Amino acid sequence: MARHRAEGSSSQTKSLLRGAKGPLVDVITKVDLDRKKAVAVVVAAGALAGAGFAQAATTVGPVERMIMPVAATKNLAAAAMTAQPPQGPQTIHSVDTGSETRKLLQAEQIQAQFTVTEAIKSAEGAFVKRQEAAKAEAARIAAEEEAKRPKVVRPAQGSFTSGFGARWGTSHNGVDIANAIGTPIVAVMDGTVIEAGPASGFGLWVRVQHEDGTITVYGHMNTIDVPQGAKVKAGQQIATIGNRGQSTGPHLHFEVWVAGGQKINPVGWLAERGVTL
Ligand SMILES: [Zn+2]
Repeated sequence: MARHRAEGSSSQTKSLLRGAKGPLVDVITKVDLDRKKAVAVVVAAGALAGAGFAQAATTVGPVERMIMPVAATKNLAAAAMTAQPPQGPQTIHSVDTGSETRKLLQAEQIQAQFTVTEAIKSAEGAFVKRQEAAKAEAARIAAEEEAKRPKVVRPAQGSFTSGFGARWGTSHNGVDIANAIGTPIVAVMDGTVIEAGPASGFGLWVRVQHEDGTITVYGHMNTIDVPQGAKVKAGQQIATIGNRGQSTGPHLHFEVWVAGGQKINPVGWLAERGVTL
């Protein structure tokens, strides 16, 4: 009986394996695409042969579920569940991935900051260059205008009514230019206003001293438009024609005093400088 029982046991095992053959082949076919998993299934079938393998083999569905009972460890189950390549043991280096990433980000930030700084420098440089170019252009235009600016002009528009010299038993120390009250009177050359106000016989006068020491004198004006001490340019309005002082009608009385105080004929002095009255 014992032998039969043993044979019977052996026969039962063979029968069990035959019965299991169908599902086992079926499982292997399912997992054929992944041979590692297929091997795991075969091993599992052997291990389960004495403990209801047929039932296990027939009830399993997806490959992952087939592997799970075989895998006694959590790691294998996890690997099967995730369906991703198993991770190798994490090394110190891989643990540092975060810090490496931070370093890279910091490096990128530094590079970005550097680039921004360079861009700002470049823009500033261009701005400074443009400013310098604009200044140079403004200076060139100013120099051009300065060169074109007349150095000597006539003191007022109007009629030349009286010349320099003896007149009415006395000496007329200047020339007269008649025009309407309010007509502009201008400085004949660049200079400095050394006097501006009342003067005997002139009513009001303005005296302008020029670089060479010459003084030009303007009299009888209606208004004075510059204060004493002012720097004036040739052609700049300094007063307006009036009829103040010893005057027989609205006009400008104009004198030229050379350095030393001598009063000379303005006609010749102006003519030497290209201006006719
Ligand atoms: Zn006069």
